[in-house]
Amino acid sequence: MDEKLLQFFSSLDRSRFVDEPYKALSSLDRPLPIGHGQTISQPSLVAYMTEQLELNKKHAVLEIGTGSGYQSAFLAEFSGELYTVERIGELSKKAEERLSSLGYRNIHYRVADGSLGWPEHAPFDRIMVTAAPKNIPKPLIDQLAPEGIMIIPVGPEGWQELLKVTKDRHGSVSERKLLDVAFVELVRK
Ligand code: SAH
Repeated sequence: MDEKLLQFFSSLDRSRFVDEPYKALSSLDRPLPIGHGQTISQPSLVAYMTEQLELNKKHAVLEIGTGSGYQSAFLAEFSGELYTVERIGELSKKAEERLSSLGYRNIHYRVADGSLGWPEHAPFDRIMVTAAPKNIPKPLIDQLAPEGIMIIPVGPEGWQELLKVTKDRHGSVSERKLLDVAFVELVRK
């Protein structure tokens, strides 16, 4: 893992992103419940997915599935601006409180169906999706900039392939499987 990413990974306290009684388990490398039937992934997977996004400080990033805000902290730390979309208002609000208290000022929050992306701020250099659709939503492909990268789990509930989708400078799209994963479902309107 990249040195800066490793350092950030070790310094970010995951207990800030979960409620009791899970704070005590937050240092374990395993998924944890965050309420509303949703889960935060194991930290090693969050770090791996961040690394696969190949971020830099000039990037505008779209995240679908704000959840606890734990993954958002990684994205905001290593990009320019983060646009994060969550369908459950209460999760979005709590994530915003946590991330503001950590000092992040480059995050924009929206409560909506993320399968539609965030057209007003498109295109995005990078897209991170942390809930799984059955297939890649077309608006997300459309909103990915040339030379863009999207990390997205795709497949039926409980079992998916984590894909790295890339768009070249001419706009042609290709995808590569990274891992087998299990994310919560991306719920569309
Ligand atoms: N990345 C988060 C975990 C995400 S769990 C973290 O680090 O904590 C997946 C999240 O996706 C849940 O919060 C769920 O409510 C949200 N979600 C599911 N379908 C969605 C949709 N269509 N649009 C936006 N968010 C969605």
